[in-house]
Amino acid sequence: MLTQVAAAKASSGTVKALKCRECGREYPKLALHVCEFCFGPLEVAYDYDAARKLLSREVIERRPPTMWRYHELLPLDLPPTVGTQVGFTPLVRAHRLGARLGLSELYIKNDAVSYPTLSFKDRVVAVALSKARELGFETVACASTGNLANSVAANAAAAGLACYVFIPHDLEQGKVLGTLIFGATVVSIRGTYDEVNRLCSEIADKYRWGFVNVSLRPYYAEGSKSHGYEIQEQLGWRQPAHVVVPMASGSLLTKIGKSFDEFRRLGLVDEPRRPPKLHGAQAAGCSPIALAVARGQELIKPVKTPQTIAKSLAIGNPADGFYAARAIRQSGGHAAAVSDEEILDAMRLLAETEGIFTETAGGVTLAAARRLVAEGRIGPDESVVVCITGNGLKTMEAIAPHLGAPTTIGPKLAEFDQFITHQEKI
Ligand SMILES: *Cc1c(COP(=O)(O)O)cnc(C)c1O
Ligand SMILES: [Zn+2]
Repeated sequence: MLTQVAAAKASSGTVKALKCRECGREYPKLALHVCEFCFGPLEVAYDYDAARKLLSREVIERRPPTMWRYHELLPLDLPPTVGTQVGFTPLVRAHRLGARLGLSELYIKNDAVSYPTLSFKDRVVAVALSKARELGFETVACASTGNLANSVAANAAAAGLACYVFIPHDLEQGKVLGTLIFGATVVSIRGTYDEVNRLCSEIADKYRWGFVNVSLRPYYAEGSKSHGYEIQEQLGWRQPAHVVVPMASGSLLTKIGKSFDEFRRLGLVDEPRRPPKLHGAQAAGCSPIALAVARGQELIKPVKTPQTIAKSLAIGNPADGFYAARAIRQSGGHAAAVSDEEILDAMRLLAETEGIFTETAGGVTLAAARRLVAEGRIGPDESVVVCITGNGLKTMEAIAPHLGAPTTIGPKLAEFDQFITHQEKI
């Protein structure tokens, strides 16, 4: 057991409080997520003057290559105990894909190879479960479109926490088996993600569990900033002109925007000519945020029955949709909603040009980037980062019908000769 004194010493003292995004009221750093006065969402507030004294490029570069090298800007009071190895995924300079898209400076931030469960959700879960432990929770839970379920189950298993996971009934096998394997209790709900989420709010009120994306949401959401910090450091402490981000609840996009603001404010990056344009990507079958951006509307109109192969992004009533649309607008960015066919094309294009197999959500993001280039919103010589957030091995049923099958022959040279001659003729 850590004493209060040891706890105070371990803390860098940069995490101030929870703060209402709407009315600014402050709350203690507990499992709280809505303002009692105005029902606005709570967000973690930092002491940036303290952070500026502690952080420099050199200090960060000397630390281990994980998301925790930015720990002063993540919302823990003690050193992390869950997901200590997460982060620092590759930023790939994508020459071949860039040539196909007509972009001279394109990068892929590749969270398809995130440790341990192959999606960017490992970042948010590392923060949420470390915080859950600080607060003394022994059981954790989540509502998920799949990747969050995988990551909560895996990290809870490694931390020895009990785990309940709630998912819509129609998820891909990779997402379901990739949760069950960790011994989590998986509850499959006959309904959409939004119905799962609503049920989870009720369960969270009744059972004292650490619900990572409900009661611990302010902490959870901050983990996404690490994806943005890494982009900036890996670009050589620079900000890109454009970033294209997939949107489900809209949290990742909002937090990547916050990561850019914070690094500018702390003087960690070269001052850009203009701040990066944030572009949002959704599937046409569930695009409430992209629609609001396209129509210039403040309010997000929920989608009742999402219909897309990009199930990990299928949130009809996105919790952070309002903030994501505002961040896009204020950055001068745009959004795109792409068809299932464009998603599948983009998955193949990424694989064939860069050797990266992404899940359907990655297809959404790349297809959206393609659209934004075609519309002239991204110029040919501007720097662009496309955020690839999940792995293709988890959504095989979406791509399988479009790949054909391998040629089968007997183990005989003559058969191979025949095969290759035939192929050369084609
Ligand atoms: C959850 C998820 C996202 C987006 O999440 P937000 O709710 O918008 O933060 C993007 N890509 C993948 C693969 C996801 O699982
Ligand atoms: Zn408030």
